[in-house]
Amino acid sequence: MDRLILTGAALIDGSGTQPVLGKAVVVEGPRIAAVVEEGAAPAGTRLRLDGLTLLPGLINAHVHLCLGGEADPVTPMRQEPLALTAVKMAIRARQTVEAGVTTVRDLGGREYAEFAVRSAVKEGLIPGPRILAAGRCICMTGGHGWWIGREADGPDDVRKAVREQLRAGADVIKIIATGGVMTPGVEPGSAQLTPEEVRAAIEEATKAGRRVAAHAQGSQGVAACVEAGITSIEHGIFLTEELVARMKREGVALVPTLIAAHQIAVPGVAAGIPAYMVKKSQAVMASHLASFQMAVKAGVPIAAGTDAGTPLNPHGSMVPELELMVKHGMTPLDALRSATTVAAGVLGLGSEVGQVAPGFAADLLAVKGTPTERVGALAELRLVLANGKIVVNRQGGGL
Ligand SMILES: [Zn+2]
Repeated sequence: MDRLILTGAALIDGSGTQPVLGKAVVVEGPRIAAVVEEGAAPAGTRLRLDGLTLLPGLINAHVHLCLGGEADPVTPMRQEPLALTAVKMAIRARQTVEAGVTTVRDLGGREYAEFAVRSAVKEGLIPGPRILAAGRCICMTGGHGWWIGREADGPDDVRKAVREQLRAGADVIKIIATGGVMTPGVEPGSAQLTPEEVRAAIEEATKAGRRVAAHAQGSQGVAACVEAGITSIEHGIFLTEELVARMKREGVALVPTLIAAHQIAVPGVAAGIPAYMVKKSQAVMASHLASFQMAVKAGVPIAAGTDAGTPLNPHGSMVPELELMVKHGMTPLDALRSATTVAAGVLGLGSEVGQVAPGFAADLLAVKGTPTERVGALAELRLVLANGKIVVNRQGGGL
């Protein structure tokens, strides 16, 4: 088996500590075989990364490969044939991994095309991140996301909808517990799936060993999800002190997706974003940021997710999201953890990705600068390894 030895970099291993010098990371096939002192590294192909920082590949806990990040991404996607969406998804998967994001969780796709892309990456046919995908999001009739989701009404129908996603190959289940920004005629604050429907979804998913992520913006919807044992609250716009205390106590993660809201509210109608989205996004922006800060302060596990594909929020870099997280109260080290170890835990991949340690997947990136001081350094990519394969190598050194 080919053995690759990465030396010379300052190593952030993902255990929560600052960068350490003098380590060699030994990669064998798709795995990290060992992390040893440089002098003790075994024979193999050496790749010197002097002056760079080496860290685990990033994890984006919330993307939509079916959406392209245009000012209005919904209209073109609804008008194009599915086969074209699938081709575009493959391109977006490549853009993602080339930006150092080696794992994504797709929380709402189009007619299961994302499962085909997941398989193509897994089989090594196309470059891309490891993909965990939900299939169709499950919403109430006419609820947020109805234009792409599986509409379901009543606990029995919701159960059936979950079973359909499992049959199609879902790794995770996505439910829509409240209204949202990107569907006309619904309000972010209003509850949608009922507590009984939420419970039914979680029960069915849990039986199959899958986790459930909830699009949940209003407090009533968030409360129903937390009560029923949800894994992660997506967006979480109207949180309360009581809700964050409960999330912390029960280990429910928040995936705030700050950049998605920012990219709708700030560029606005002038950038071509539909007015109904802009109006709603601007109205909830202050609550969204306050809820994020409340959750950070309370110690709720926070996983980074960009909602990539939404207006002016393209697939690829997570830097804009991490910069907003830091701007609004997280330390750079905690923001990095949110895109590595914490996100890995939320995805149920805590012993597979998110750390540079023996037995973990060889998902690695090397950047110029120190991302634990400035998350913007993550944009200065020099090397990306995904599952042991080099997908980016701009560091100029020998190999
Ligand atoms: Zn989303």
